[in-house]
Amino acid sequence: MKPIAKSAKLANVCYDIRGPVLDKARAMEEEGQKIIKLNIGNIAAFGIEPPDEIVQDMIRNLPAAAGYTDSKGLFAPRKAVVHYCQEKNIRGVTVDDVYLGNGASELIVMALNALLDNGDEVLLPAPDYPLYTAAVALSGGTPVHYICDEQSDWMPDIADIRAKITPRTRAIVVINPNNPTGALYPDSLLKEIVEVARQHQLIIMADEIYDKTLFDGNSHTSIAALSDDVLTLTFNGLSKNYRSCGYRAGWMVVSGEKHHARDYITGLNMLASMRLCANTPGQLAIQTALGGYQSIKDLVAPTGRLCRQRDLAYELLTQIPGVSVVKPKAALYMFPRLDPKIYPIEDDQQFAYELLSEEKVLIVQGTGFNWTAPDHFRLVFLPNTDDLRDAVGRIERFLAHYRKR
Ligand code: PLP
Repeated sequence: MKPIAKSAKLANVCYDIRGPVLDKARAMEEEGQKIIKLNIGNIAAFGIEPPDEIVQDMIRNLPAAAGYTDSKGLFAPRKAVVHYCQEKNIRGVTVDDVYLGNGASELIVMALNALLDNGDEVLLPAPDYPLYTAAVALSGGTPVHYICDEQSDWMPDIADIRAKITPRTRAIVVINPNNPTGALYPDSLLKEIVEVARQHQLIIMADEIYDKTLFDGNSHTSIAALSDDVLTLTFNGLSKNYRSCGYRAGWMVVSGEKHHARDYITGLNMLASMRLCANTPGQLAIQTALGGYQSIKDLVAPTGRLCRQRDLAYELLTQIPGVSVVKPKAALYMFPRLDPKIYPIEDDQQFAYELLSEEKVLIVQGTGFNWTAPDHFRLVFLPNTDDLRDAVGRIERFLAHYRKR
């Protein structure tokens, strides 16, 4: 029979967070082996539950939520997002500027699909959350990565951003707080990015899905709050701050000057209509979440579970010879560096594979985040302190063997 090939559109599309190493982990689990998973930010899977009021409201709303809604979403949760924008000082946002989605992911793909012609370029961070690189490629665009500098706590390198702008550059993606590095950007840097976008007429795509997962008393500024003119799409949702990723509830807010973007907005509206609407129970949960007690505060406080786990993972990892880590200020991840002089890794996917096979610990290799050198990996600090201790101990043992090879 004629082989059925994947479409040519997928030739440059890659999403390694759920890639071949995960397939191996699944096969091991099917054989009955227990794996410690430090690979994805699936918070509820680690016994860190969503706020009870969200769960209760989901249950209560379910019987009346079987129908489609308006494509952009129900009025009340969109209004709740408008209020949230007001709290974050994002000005000029009305209900009409808010789109609800099945998670932020759907809206990110939609926003890029509506924007890009073949060969259009989008500036993306390296390392990145790889959905962006994949979605730009799927939309026919060209991902162009700007460097985030580990020496400066993983801050975006403005000179590199400027150097990579061409007449084809359409947008810049800013992930703040950052996955995979845990960096949190100061206002001064955000203002510089706004200035670059203004000068070169770029759209800013701001991913702020971790904007309440902040440690050490830090606060977060939405980049959209720093200009009234630059067209900015801000993505957020319930997956992380409200530990509800399975409810698939996210939103996108369009802010800044819109009169010159009417055609693009028409495109966004058409794509929103084509997918009919986001799941209705998830939409209703947005209203409950934004209006309720913000229990994430308890988890990120110095005595809170997430903060203690971050501190422990940092302390244990930095004691391993040849491992260095920038301590995350926010989000759920760290991106440790393995000194290439001590660990001459050539293929970091193979490294992740061997760590899994030998020690039953699942991480994601740094190149999975479009980091070109095979000298980093991402670790999720969601397991409880006992499991984290166990996991980092296994990584340490694996690395000790690696050094002796
Ligand atoms: N954006 C970032 C930076 C993420 O880390 C993730 C998930 O890990 C998402 C978006 C996906 O969010 P959602 O579950 O709302 O689709």
